[in-house]
Amino acid sequence: MYDVIVIGAGPAGSTAAKTLATKGYKVLLVEKFKMPRYKSCSGQLIKKTMDLVQTYFGEAVPASTMCAPTENRGMIFTDDKGKSFRFEQDGLNVWRSSFDKWLADKAAQSGAEVRDHTAALSCVEENGIVTVTLKGEQAYTEQARYVIDCEGVVGTLKKKLLNRDLQYITTYQTFNQGSIDLDYRFFHAYLQPELSEYDAWFNVKDNQLVLGVSVKNSSNAEYYYSRFIAYMKEKHNLRIDKQLKVDKWLMPHIRPGCAIDYGVGRVLFAGEIAGFLNPMGEGISAGMESGYHAVNAIMQHFDDLDLVYADYKANTDAMHNYMKRQWSFVAGMADTFKEMGL
Ligand SMILES: Cc1cc2nc3c(=O)[nH]c(=O)nc-3n(C[C@H](O)[C@H](O)[C@H](O)COP(=O)(O)OP(=O)(O)OC[C@H]3O[C@@H](n4cnc5c(N)ncnc54)[C@H](O)[C@@H]3O)c2cc1C
Repeated sequence: MYDVIVIGAGPAGSTAAKTLATKGYKVLLVEKFKMPRYKSCSGQLIKKTMDLVQTYFGEAVPASTMCAPTENRGMIFTDDKGKSFRFEQDGLNVWRSSFDKWLADKAAQSGAEVRDHTAALSCVEENGIVTVTLKGEQAYTEQARYVIDCEGVVGTLKKKLLNRDLQYITTYQTFNQGSIDLDYRFFHAYLQPELSEYDAWFNVKDNQLVLGVSVKNSSNAEYYYSRFIAYMKEKHNLRIDKQLKVDKWLMPHIRPGCAIDYGVGRVLFAGEIAGFLNPMGEGISAGMESGYHAVNAIMQHFDDLDLVYADYKANTDAMHNYMKRQWSFVAGMADTFKEMGL
C-alpha cells in the first residue's frame, strides 16, 4: 500500500513525487514511456521555472539538460496587426527529455519508487483506497490512499474519471538546418490570424531552427504552417537547407475563465491535465507548482479529503489568477484570443 501513486513523470508528477518522498511518504511514480521519454516542447524555462526548480529540487537546472543557446532572453511577440513587443527576462533553453529525466531521477534519489514503461490504465476508489491498474510487461494492480494524476494533455484517465471529452489545440512544428535573421536567444511568437488559428513561433535548439504553428482544427496544420514559412522567408530571410524532423502534438484548449479540474475523490489532478497552462503554451512552471500544492494539501490533511481540496484550491489560487491575467493580456494583443479577456 502506497501513501500516494503519482501518474506521469513530467514536471508536475516528478515535483509531486519528489516533495512527498522528501517528507518520508511512500510514493510510487509511474511513467508510461521508457525514460528519457520524448515530449514535444520548445523547452523554454522562464525565470519562474528556474526558481521553482531551485526551491523544490534544491539545485539549479543542470547544464547537462540544456541546449544551445543555453540562455533564453525572453519573448518577442508580434501582435495581430504585425507590431512587435519585446519582453526581456532571464531564462534557459533545455531539451525536455533530459530535463524531465533529471527531475524524475531527483525524485528517485529522494526515495520515490519510479517505474517507467508502466502505464496507468484505470483508477477505482473504494473505502478510501484507490486501486490503480498498471501495465508494464503485463497488467497488475497497486493501491494507495491518494493518486495524483499528472498524465499531461491527452488525459485518458481523466476522460474515464469525468466521463467527458477534452478539447485540444494541435501543434505542428519542424526542426531544420538553415538560417534566419532573428535573434536566437529569444522565443518569437506570432499572433497574426493569417499565420495560425492560435499562435505560431520560432526558436532555436542546438542550431536547429524550430518553426511551428498551432491550430484548432488539426487538418489545417500544414496549410497554416506553409503560410507561416512563406511569411518568415519574406520578413526574416528564412532559408531551410534541410528539414530534420516534423513533430505533431496536442495542448489543452484553455477556455474563458481558465477552468481547473482539481480531481475526483482521492484522485487529484495536477499540471496540464488539471488545466494549468499559461499563454504561448508555457506550462512547466504551472505543472511544477500545481504538483507541489496538490501533495502539500494531502500531507497537511491526509485524513480529511474536504480539507485536501480546500487547501489545494486555496494554494493554487494565486497561480490561477496569474494565468487568467496572462490570458487576458494576450487577448489584448490579438483578436484570436479576444474571448479570454477578463
Ligand atoms: C509544442 C509545445 C511547446 C511547448 N513549449 C513550452 C515551453 O517552451 N515552456 C513551457 O514551460 N511549456 C511548454 N509547453 C507546455 C509544456 O510542455 C506542458 O505544459 C508541460 O509539460 C506540462 O507538464 P505535465 O507534467 O503536466 O505533463 P507532461 O510533461 O506532458 O507529462 C505527463 C507525463 O505523463 C505520462 N503519461 C500519460 N499518460 C500516462 C498513463 N496513463 N500512465 C503513465 N504515464 C502517463 C506521459 O508520457 C508524460 O511523460 C509546450 C507544449 C507544446 C505542445
